[in-house]
Amino acid sequence: MSRGSIKGRSKFFSYLLTAAIVAMPLAAFAQTKIVYHSNKFKPGDDVKLGRQAAAEAEQQFPLLRDSEVTAYVEKVGQRLVASIPAEFQHSEFRYYFKVINASDINAFALPGGPMYVNRGMIEAARTEGEMAGVMAHELSHVALRHGTAQATKAQKYAVGAGIAGILGTILAGPAAGQLAQLPIGAYFLKYSREYETEADLLGARIMANAGYDPRDLANMFRTIEAQGGGGGGGFLSDHPSPANRYARINQEAQYLRVREQTRDDTEFRSIKERLRRYPRAQTMAEIQRNGGRYPSDTNGNNYPSNPPRGRVEYPSSRFRTYSELGVVQVSVPDNWRELSDRGSVWFAPEGAYGSTNGQVVYTHGINIGTAQTNSRNLQQASNEFVNALQQGNGNLRARGNYQRRDVDGRYGLLITLGNTNEATGRPEIINVVTTQLRSGDLLYLITVSPENEYSSYQNTFLNILRSLRLND
Ligand code: ZN
Repeated sequence: MSRGSIKGRSKFFSYLLTAAIVAMPLAAFAQTKIVYHSNKFKPGDDVKLGRQAAAEAEQQFPLLRDSEVTAYVEKVGQRLVASIPAEFQHSEFRYYFKVINASDINAFALPGGPMYVNRGMIEAARTEGEMAGVMAHELSHVALRHGTAQATKAQKYAVGAGIAGILGTILAGPAAGQLAQLPIGAYFLKYSREYETEADLLGARIMANAGYDPRDLANMFRTIEAQGGGGGGGFLSDHPSPANRYARINQEAQYLRVREQTRDDTEFRSIKERLRRYPRAQTMAEIQRNGGRYPSDTNGNNYPSNPPRGRVEYPSSRFRTYSELGVVQVSVPDNWRELSDRGSVWFAPEGAYGSTNGQVVYTHGINIGTAQTNSRNLQQASNEFVNALQQGNGNLRARGNYQRRDVDGRYGLLITLGNTNEATGRPEIINVVTTQLRSGDLLYLITVSPENEYSSYQNTFLNILRSLRLND
C-alpha cells in the first residue's frame, strides 16, 4: 500500500534572501505613510508565483487536516483581508489560509495570497489578537507585493532576464543544494529591515481596521521571546530586533483608531484546547530533515529510504493507547510504531514501511486520518475517498461491496480491497473503514496486510477498531 510519491526538496525562494535597503522616513506625529516599491511584475505574476510556491510548500510540509481549526484561522484571516486599506487591495489576489502541522512559532504568506500559519504559532499566542497580529504582518508583505518588489531589485543585476526568466530563476533557485538544508521559513520570510517595518506598520493598521488592538502585534513579539524565540525556524529568526519593533508598533498604534474592538477569546481558547489533543508536532527543520512529507516517527527519526522487506514481528497482544488527530483515541499493539504521514497517522511494525520508486510503501499496519470530501452522505463520501486511493494505487480493486460497520457506536462502512504491494510485489488485503465526524469530515482507517498473513492480522485489526473512541 503506498500513499503518494516523494517529491524533490524545495529549490526556490532564494530571491527572498536578496536584501534591499532604502531608508524609510519615520513620521513622528502621524500615521506613517507607506508606498509601494518599484515593481516590474504585474499583480497577476504575484498570483502565479504564489500558486507555484504554495504547491511546493504543500509538498514539503504536512497540513493540519482539521476543518474546525482551518475554518477558524480562515475566518480570522478573511476578517483581516477585508480590513486591508483600499490602496493596497488587488482584485487579482486570492487570500486563503491553511495550518501547517509544525511546532515552530511562525507563519508565512506567499505572493498573491496563500498564507500558512504554523500550529505552533496558534499554540504560542495568548490571545486571538496576538495570532491575528502575526497574520496581519504577513498579509502586509503580500498586499505590499514585497516578494516581487524584492525580485525586481534582484533582476536589476540579472542581465537580459525577462519576466519569464526571472520567474524561472526564482522557482529554480541558484543554490538548491544549500537551500535544502535550511528551514524553508527562512526563505519565505527574509525581507529587508525596511520591508519588515512596513509590514509592521501596515499590519498594525489592518489590525485596527479589523477591530483588534494593534499593540497585540507588538505583544506577540514578547510572547515569542518569552517562549525562547520560537525555535530555530521561528518568527524571530526571520524577524530580528523585536525591542525596536515593539516600540515602533506601539508608537504607530497611538495614531490608529480601533474599530469596534472585539476581545472575545472564547473560540480561540477552544481551538487551542483542540490542538492540545494532537500528538507533538515536529519542527519545520525536522520535517525537512526527514525529507519533507515522508512519514517520520513522532521522535523525528529518519524514515527508511529503502523498500520495506515486509518481514515483521508478530503483533503483540499488549496494546498501547494513543490520542490522535484531535478526534480519536485508539489502542494498537505495543510493538507497532507511531508514524506521522501528511496529517494522518500510521501504526506499523518495524520492517513494514519504507520507500520504493519515490513512493512511501507499507506492508503491514493501519493508517488513521481525516479527509474532506464533497459529500455529507457517508456512502458517497466513502466512494469519493476510495476512488482517490485508487488513483494513487493502480492495482487497488474492490472485493465485494460496502458493509455496515459500527465505529464507536457511530454508523460506519467497511470495504475490502485487493492490491499488489509496490515493494514486495505480493498480493495484499486492504480494509477501508469510514465514518463521518461531527464536522462533516470523513474519518478513515486503512488496514494493510499481505494476503497470506491476513487471517492472523484480522483479529488485531478488529481489536483496534473496537478500541477506537471518537471525541470530536
Ligand atoms: Zn516579515
